[in-house]
Amino acid sequence: MKYDYSEIVPYFLNWYDYNARILPWRDNPKPYYVWVSEIMLQQTRVEAVKGYFERFIETLPDIKSLAEVDEEKLLKLWEGLGYYSRVRNLQKAAKVIMKDYNGELPSDYNELLKLPGIGVYTAGAIASIAFQKPVPAVDGNVLRVMKRIAASYDDITKESIKKELWQDLYQIMPSDRPGDFNQSIMDIGATVCLPNGKPLCDQCPVMHLCKAFHQDIVMELPVKPPKKGRKKEEKTILIFEYQDQFAIRKRPAKGLLAGLWEIPSVEGKLTLKKIKEQLEEWQFQIERIEPMGEAKHIFSHVEWHMLGYHILLKDDNPEYTKNKDYVWANRCQINQIYTLPNAFLAYSKLWKNF
Ligand code: SF4
Repeated sequence: MKYDYSEIVPYFLNWYDYNARILPWRDNPKPYYVWVSEIMLQQTRVEAVKGYFERFIETLPDIKSLAEVDEEKLLKLWEGLGYYSRVRNLQKAAKVIMKDYNGELPSDYNELLKLPGIGVYTAGAIASIAFQKPVPAVDGNVLRVMKRIAASYDDITKESIKKELWQDLYQIMPSDRPGDFNQSIMDIGATVCLPNGKPLCDQCPVMHLCKAFHQDIVMELPVKPPKKGRKKEEKTILIFEYQDQFAIRKRPAKGLLAGLWEIPSVEGKLTLKKIKEQLEEWQFQIERIEPMGEAKHIFSHVEWHMLGYHILLKDDNPEYTKNKDYVWANRCQINQIYTLPNAFLAYSKLWKNF
């Protein structure tokens, strides 16, 4: 039998009145702020987002400034947050809003869905929090909390299950406080009905209504099929330094980390001996090579296993600068202009905090 969620609404709202998290975008839930924060929060923890959000809003205070900002500067503001297609879509949507919506984010759920980068969850969050429209915002957190309350073994990765829960919650949205209701589920999911480890059921406002708690199956839920293994790629990262400048190059326009800057690399993990042979073949004049150790970076479908070398090139051979693939940038330029993804964090200490 289907669980009737209508009873949980007052308990969630009451809990929210006393326990809502204090977040920078909640002080003033302007549509633009809600939108930017929701996009940042996709795939990123709240604690990590706070600082980024404040810096972003200070630099680009409105939709117009977002639509007009130079892409390199925009990517730099996002540096470290990852999933850069999010910020590119944010700007694409800002341009559409300037052109087709008179510079104002639309309040209608279906209109929001037409904008680049805004899916069902984000449209629901913006419409309910910024415009008080009674629509749900169903993501993995909401699915976890609701499936536990209902003691349901549904596979929460299935689109049909998400749609069904969206419909169930749509039926019970409190018309006077839809944004607070959605945010109460988000906050309970983040602070009480935890994703990893045991949920804090003794602090939960709906413990008495939660079937998983009463059946003692909270750790079995929600049900997700095991993830497919990630592909492992080995790389040797080559940090070339020549006259206090470092070589960086642009990644292809499509695929992983599309269009971002990267440190040059070659396939496989090469030993110091092999690196020397390779550099000799390229006719690079070496002053010295410093091994920088191993590092790993995990993307959603692939893992990079890296080995890095800092290669100081001799000053008397400017041939290196003629390689058209490379841009040579000093520490200050890399810190202020070029966006290097977090994947290279272990090796960027050569210019960070400089
Ligand atoms: S009682 Fe426990 S399992 Fe049930 S919703 Fe609350 S925190 Fe989650």
